[in-house]
Amino acid sequence: MNSAIPDKDDVLNGELVYEGDRVFIYRLADCLYFRKANLLERGQCNGVYIVGGGAVAAVDIPTMEAAVEMENEIRMLFGLPLRYIFLTHPHKDHIDGIGHFLGSSVTFIVSSLLASELSRSYRGKNKALFMGIDRDALLYLGDTEIRVFTSGYTMHSPYDLFVHLPKEKALCTGDCVVEPWILYYHSADVKNWIAGLRQIGRQSYRLVLPGHGPVFGPDVIGKTADFLQSLYDLAGRSIDELAPGERCDLDASTIDRITDRIFCRPEAALIKQNGGAEAERQFRMVFRRRLYEFLK
Ligand SMILES: [Zn+2]
Ligand SMILES: [Zn+2]
Repeated sequence: MNSAIPDKDDVLNGELVYEGDRVFIYRLADCLYFRKANLLERGQCNGVYIVGGGAVAAVDIPTMEAAVEMENEIRMLFGLPLRYIFLTHPHKDHIDGIGHFLGSSVTFIVSSLLASELSRSYRGKNKALFMGIDRDALLYLGDTEIRVFTSGYTMHSPYDLFVHLPKEKALCTGDCVVEPWILYYHSADVKNWIAGLRQIGRQSYRLVLPGHGPVFGPDVIGKTADFLQSLYDLAGRSIDELAPGERCDLDASTIDRITDRIFCRPEAALIKQNGGAEAERQFRMVFRRRLYEFLK
């Protein structure tokens, strides 16, 4: 794939305990299971199951089809009810299955901003509880300790929620850390995203459970920040070099022309190497956003 971000490591993935329709569930600890799913073919982000106190908590519910699959998986693997759902952020591939649970007694644990938006969106149609997290909370599911936190600012999205199991040294990142080709920026603030990853990376982890891709080791956090920094810096340098006429022209063909020009240069090599076939798309998104901020 690339040299800067580690490839799939089977040791990190633990023991395979279930295989379904392009879904693989790995047992990482007694209380922790990783549900590796397929975005391109099935529209599903990864999921996580946390077990404790005679109940199960899940991270993200990507589609209505996945919601049914996840209920069945939980019944089969644990014989326990699904009581809690953490939502890392409300992009379609992470929350499209929540409708399946709105008539039930499930508690959704989400950022405060998302709790208020979801409660407004589903007013009158919802029996579930939306619990909003502002910054940091410590929860216990039986003996399983779970720390949930938000950065307090926009990283991948304004709603990012992280789920951390301190004893297992595991961190669920949503889309703030994913395989590099899938990094997406349409509701991101790249500068904050980098700062947030640097801050989060100070904690000691053993396992990083991303929204897409395989389980990673902790070095992926710093490497993702480095990759974002290289995109951000190249976008900044490119803006400095723009001709005056280009600085006020944000149409798509201008952005494409500038991207073509920049991507011939040696300084784009690392970005191409990390972002693969998606590198230009990523540069265009970050460049457009920086240019927009520059022109404000
Ligand atoms: Zn996603
Ligand atoms: Zn996302």
